[in-house]
Amino acid sequence: MASSAGPEIERLIQLLSRLPGLGPRSGRRVALTLLKRKDQLLIPLAEALAAAAATMRPCGRCGALDTRDPCQICADPSRDQSLLMVVEDVGALWAMERSGVFRGRYHVLGGLLSALDGVGPDTLRISSLVERTHSDAVREVILALPATVDGLTTAHYVAERLSSSTVVITSLARGVPVGGELDWLDDGTIAQALRARR
Ligand SMILES: [Zn+2]
Repeated sequence: MASSAGPEIERLIQLLSRLPGLGPRSGRRVALTLLKRKDQLLIPLAEALAAAAATMRPCGRCGALDTRDPCQICADPSRDQSLLMVVEDVGALWAMERSGVFRGRYHVLGGLLSALDGVGPDTLRISSLVERTHSDAVREVILALPATVDGLTTAHYVAERLSSSTVVITSLARGVPVGGELDWLDDGTIAQALRARR
């Protein structure tokens, strides 16, 4: 494509175009907004990105992303240690936290089992989950995985791996729509699904 901007700006547009929900067109529009509002947006954003890049790390315990390890949730003594919620990714964890109804801790798998995409159990944080249920004071593991084929397969596999431990295994009730990603649900639906877990 013929370019009317220098290589730095083209690079910015290219990177922005890769963000979820954006394509080349929106990437250009976002870039233009940033460039026009250098002091209010471009510089603060660049600083926020640099700070996040320098400090972000996965929590060694639960797999969440935070600026400290253990993360704020794992380090919070007021969170119920006996409840462990298993989620697909950090987006699902954030959605559950936004709903404000869960006061236990999390375990982020980092994806779902998928024969199609070649994701096997060793790719996911399943062994560390099994370890946690043995060493931490966990009484209940809540499987909060999406109601998709991969989500159900993963939930089944995780339950199987935990079958030798003494923990109670529950799943979110299906107020969660079939095919539903936790990320996209409103807070009320999440709260109801948590209360009605089985
Ligand atoms: Zn953590």
